[in-house]
Formats: sequence, structure tokens, C-alpha cells
Amino acid sequence: MQRKWGIRKIAEVFSMKKKTASGRKHDCKNTLEKVQLALDNELTEIEEKQLLDEINNCSYCLEKYEIEQSFKKYLCNKVKRHPCNPQLADQIRNSINNIMDR
Ligand SMILES: [Zn+2]
Repeated sequence: MQRKWGIRKIAEVFSMKKKTASGRKHDCKNTLEKVQLALDNELTEIEEKQLLDEINNCSYCLEKYEIEQSFKKYLCNKVKRHPCNPQLADQIRNSINNIMDR
């Protein structure tokens, strides 16, 4: 007598598979658009967590996310290193006015 999988076992495996694939359909483009929002701190905590879950399940998104994140860090550092100095802005404005007066 051959032992085949019973209908129950098949249903079990099927529902397990369905469960793991039950997340929203993954769309790299859509996810990466959300990455931009996350980097701009425009996502809620829950949305951000969902996004990170999605990213962790997709090597392409993960790679892209890391690139975006390091780019953002790079930009932040750049801005910090060159803060907008109000005094300097005034000086420039005055210089321009002086030139205009001449
Ligand atoms: Zn992806």
C-alpha cells in the first residue's frame, strides 16, 4: 500500500505556504518610494516597521535601502559641516549692497 499524503496534510502545507506568502504583494519600486519617505521621517512607526520587514525579505530592496541610507548620512554630515551661518549671510548681503551702491 502506497502512503500518499492525505488531504489533511496537503491542506496543512498549502495553508502554511499561503500564510508565508500572505503579505502584501511585494513591489520593489513601491517599497523604495516608501524608503524615501522613511528617510525623510514621514512614515509612522508602524509603517516604518512594515517597510523594514519588507526590505529584509528582499535582497534588492535591502541593498538599495543601505545605499539610500548611507547617502542620507553623507548629506547630513555635509550639512552639519557647513551650517548656514546667519552672520555670514548678513556679510554677503552687505557686500552685495555695497557693490550695488557704488
Ligand atoms: Zn524588493
